[in-house]
Amino acid sequence: MIVGIDIGGTNTDVAVMKDNDFEVRTFRTSEVAANISEFIEKNWSEAVAIGVGIAAWLKLVPDGFRIVKAPNLSRIPEMTFSKPSVVDNDANCFAYFASRTLGYENLFGVTVGTGIGGGVIAKGKIYRGCGAAGEIGHTYVGGDRECKCGGRGHLEAYFGGWAVEGVDRKIETGEIYECEGFRLFCISLANAVMILHPEAVAVGGRIGGRLDASIIQENVEKWLPSVIEVEIHTVKDDYAVAKGAAMLARDTIFQTQP
Ligand SMILES: [Zn+2]
Repeated sequence: MIVGIDIGGTNTDVAVMKDNDFEVRTFRTSEVAANISEFIEKNWSEAVAIGVGIAAWLKLVPDGFRIVKAPNLSRIPEMTFSKPSVVDNDANCFAYFASRTLGYENLFGVTVGTGIGGGVIAKGKIYRGCGAAGEIGHTYVGGDRECKCGGRGHLEAYFGGWAVEGVDRKIETGEIYECEGFRLFCISLANAVMILHPEAVAVGGRIGGRLDASIIQENVEKWLPSVIEVEIHTVKDDYAVAKGAAMLARDTIFQTQP
């Protein structure tokens, strides 16, 4: 049994992997995050490994990792597990899940929820750079609107869940596709496609997973040279990050990663 955890600003999801099946549960981050190690090890004592996806930027250091920034978390949880564990950025876990389940070795994953995250999979592995590679939400798209990270004019400040007023209604009515934030999102995806040239882009998260992949595809292609092809997918699984964290723990700790 391997436990995958997704620690988000509001909810913490747990996906328990047995063979290749998952059982999922959701908890309030405010109730479990402070003692997450104890909570997980008490409730899932048979776990042989633990994977954590967290809404934070991580920097890899010689003895593990250091959390550099977590704009959407009120506090950083203590994560010292007695079992073998991996901790990674939540969008990296999402991208890993999408790469494995959609079957692409080279993929760019983007999560649109409260914030906007991004993760790069190159030849089946997470590409981290110095830590924050792929963070498309904090690339400049114009203007000077203040972002949660302290920067200005970032994509997240125009298309993150916190920045789009009435986002749920706009998705339901289709109005979302007419807004400036969506236009900037598609331009940003096209830019990422030219830099990374992945086989596919996977869009997920509470907001991203509810968007129409064919509309995104059409609007991304507008900004790309006609010879560049990419497949855009949406991933509608709310537990994609937790599942991806479990898969990453399995493949990293038991070295099943290709
Ligand atoms: Zn930012």
